[in-house]
Amino acid sequence: MHVRPRNELVTLRLEEDINPNRTTGKYLSPKEFFEQMQDENTVVLDARNDYEFDLGHFRGAIKPEITNFRELPEWVRENKQMFEGKKILTYCTGGIRCEKFSGWLVEEGFEDVSQLHGGIATYGKDPEVQGELWDGQMYVFDERIAVPINQKEHVIVGRDIYSGEPCERYVNCANPECNKKILCSEENEHKHMRSCTHECRVHPRNRYVVEHNLSEEEVAKRLQLIEETITAK
Ligand SMILES: [Zn+2]
Repeated sequence: MHVRPRNELVTLRLEEDINPNRTTGKYLSPKEFFEQMQDENTVVLDARNDYEFDLGHFRGAIKPEITNFRELPEWVRENKQMFEGKKILTYCTGGIRCEKFSGWLVEEGFEDVSQLHGGIATYGKDPEVQGELWDGQMYVFDERIAVPINQKEHVIVGRDIYSGEPCERYVNCANPECNKKILCSEENEHKHMRSCTHECRVHPRNRYVVEHNLSEEEVAKRLQLIEETITAK
């Protein structure tokens, strides 16, 4: 298995670029964040991509229904009622993306906006909070992929996309044009030829098929085992 590391995306395409040196939310220490996130009038909003959230997030945090961080502003506008009159806490991996995002929230008119200073990474190392109320693991953009944060307990929130079983193992879809990150066990990876959909499994350049030198008959046999057939083109 090979997962290519990628640089963390910090671009937030907005009508006008937000300069965090000029406009941003309040900075909260891990201890302050820990206390405020338990306040009834608080909403915690994850400012990362969906596959990062799926591996781990703060307990009770809201997952924006987006596939990419850049779509966040539009999503917030469409779901304004979730945040009106509330204290908004936002967070990200290293505290860079949410700095921009919280600045945007302030300019958008939200009054009480705060962010986790230093991000989740700092929160996990803090000697006092020790990552408490973080569930799962933190997604990182290097070969480690998953990093533990909560030193007190480990609750698995990731789910195998095929079986729904608890899972924290990421692979990339074998269809080179899809390349989606999917959580799955090793067993299910082989069973489903490391592909997220039937279309991806039968893609002519499927990397799993190439890596394992599978003949057409072998592919057909694998598909049959998961009750799929190759449809005539
Ligand atoms: Zn796919």
